[in-house]
Amino acid sequence: PPVLSLSGVSKTYGPTTALADVSFSLAPGEVVALVGPSGAGKSTVFRCVTRLVDPDNGSVSVLGRDLAGLGGRALREARRDIGLIFQQFNLIGRMSALDNVLAGRMGHVATWRVVARMFPAADRQLALACLDRVGLLDKAYQRADSLSGGQQQRVAIARVLAQRSRVLLADEPVSSLDPKAADTVLGVLRTVARENGIAVLCSLHQVDLARRFADRVVALRGGRVVLEAPAGALTPTA
Ligand code: ADP
Ligand code: ADP
Repeated sequence: PPVLSLSGVSKTYGPTTALADVSFSLAPGEVVALVGPSGAGKSTVFRCVTRLVDPDNGSVSVLGRDLAGLGGRALREARRDIGLIFQQFNLIGRMSALDNVLAGRMGHVATWRVVARMFPAADRQLALACLDRVGLLDKAYQRADSLSGGQQQRVAIARVLAQRSRVLLADEPVSSLDPKAADTVLGVLRTVARENGIAVLCSLHQVDLARRFADRVVALRGGRVVLEAPAGALTPTA
C-alpha cells in the first residue's frame, strides 16, 4: 500500500490553476523527484500534503488516512508522520547538531526541554544513532551554524529520522549547495529512505539530479502531471 497518495487533486487561486487533477503515489522506501519550471505547482503539492492548504477537489492520504477528515489531535499525529526539510536548513544555529536532532524527536513545542536537557537518555542514544546514519557522529557536539551547508542538511535528515516520520517532503533540499555537497546529501537521503522504508518526495530544479538520485520522476507543468517515469528512463542532460 502507498505511504503517500494524491488522487485527483486540484487547487485554484482565483483565476490561477495551481494544480489540476494531480494523481501519484509513493511506496515505502521510494524516492520520487518532483520537477517542473517555476510556477508549475510543486510547492502547492507540498502545501496540500501538509494541509497548509486544502485541495478544491481530490484527496491526499498518508498511510491510508485521508487528511481531509482530520482535525486537532489526529491532524497533529498525522503531521508527525511527515518529516520536512527545506532549502534553508531550518536548524537552530546556536544549538549543537545533537540537540537539533533531539528537538525533532521531542517535537518542536518541546525544544525548551532540549535546552533544559530534560529528555530521557534513550532519546539521546537514538539521536546519536540518527547522526551516525547520516555520517555525522563526529559532529554531534558542534554548533549547527559551524557546519557546512551539506552537513547542516544531513543534520536535518537525521532530525526527520529521529522523529520516525514515514514520509519525507524535501522542498528544494540542495538548491543552496555546491554540486559535490548536493550529491552527498541526495545520496544520504536515498540511503536512509531505502534503509528505513521512508517515502521521499523531493522537488529538484535539475533534471540531472532527479535522473541520478530518484527512483521515479513526476514532472509538473501548469499544474498538470506531464510526465511520470522511472528515473532511469530519462536521458542524461544537464
Ligand atoms: P512552484 O512551486 O512549482 O514554483 P507553486 O505551487 O508555488 O509553483 O505555484 C503554482 C501556481 O499557483 C503559480 O501560478 C503561482 O503563481 C500560483 N500561486 C501559488 N500560491 C499562490 C497564492 N497564495 N495566491 C495566488 N496564487 C498562488
Ligand atoms: P560534506 O562536505 O557535506 O561533509 P563529505 O563528502 O565530506 O560532504 O561527506 C562524506 C561523509 O558523508 C562520509 O563520512 C559518509 O559517512 C557520509 N555519506 C556520504 N554518502 C553517503 C551515503 N550515500 N549514505 C550514507 N552516508 C553517506
